[in-house]
Amino acid sequence: MNLNLNALIAKNLPNQLEGKVASYIPALAQVNPNQLGIALYDLKNQQIIEAGDSEVRFAIESISKVITLLWAIKKLGLKEVFNYVGSRQTGFAFNSILNMEINKDEHPLNPFVNVGAIMTTSLIVEDKQACVHPFEEILTFAKEICHDPDIYLDDTIYHSEKRTGDLNRSLAYYLKSEKMMIAEVEPSLDTYFKQCSIMVTTKSLANLGAVLANDGIKPWDGKRIISSESATATKSLMMTTGLYNQSGTYSRLIGVPTKSGVGGGLVSAAPHKFGIGIFSPALNNEGNSVAGLTLLEDVANKLDLNIFK
Ligand code: GLU
Repeated sequence: MNLNLNALIAKNLPNQLEGKVASYIPALAQVNPNQLGIALYDLKNQQIIEAGDSEVRFAIESISKVITLLWAIKKLGLKEVFNYVGSRQTGFAFNSILNMEINKDEHPLNPFVNVGAIMTTSLIVEDKQACVHPFEEILTFAKEICHDPDIYLDDTIYHSEKRTGDLNRSLAYYLKSEKMMIAEVEPSLDTYFKQCSIMVTTKSLANLGAVLANDGIKPWDGKRIISSESATATKSLMMTTGLYNQSGTYSRLIGVPTKSGVGGGLVSAAPHKFGIGIFSPALNNEGNSVAGLTLLEDVANKLDLNIFK
């Protein structure tokens, strides 16, 4: 593969100056913004290549929404899960309550905004087959699908999320007041705050992206972990809603299904080609990594990854 990742890191790192680390979760405000790392899982050559801050652990945040969606589908089936969340863009910020009020009587519009993810998590919490600790189930699944036994829950971030998560609390209680909430509010929120606070590297995300790109089969051992239809549906939602209000823009500019998190992570799945993990914590106003997106755009162009081409 003719790709100089170190040169692309050097080119894109200065773009972080245009962003800011998330500060509404106090623990995230402590993160050094001057970081950029990438890992690519190359399905053809069965190898990972990486550069920059690829080994740094950071909070997965909203990328956990991909993992809980996949876990909920694995347990309950695609049809059942999408009885409770939609597949529409919201046109509002990721943590907006307004979109629920405007679309009254509709379930959360998609599983990748906070209110939709809280709903998906509550499906896992309520699942009668679940063990008593739904978060432990999610963590075990995350370690397996990210091929990373070192993923852990960061207590400082978790407590910071929990202490300051009033908007998320209001979203969950809004769901309850509209009789949409499936499980008890507090355990659902607690599980949501925990899932956002697990620590990953770009390699964990490249592996997750590689499973999605490989139709649900773990490329490192050839075993299926999620169904083909789950991988396909999830990639489609990543493309249409994974970057919040910038999803349309980056569908045009990059054309690779991608999900972001306010920890500065990006996971992408280029079907049958690459899983990609990127980390750079400085965010734009929409909550997406600034240098991460420009780096992804360069890599997607050089490797010809746009699925619409
Ligand atoms: N934990 C964050 C929140 O609930 C996740 C948001 C994100 O990564 O976009 O606001």
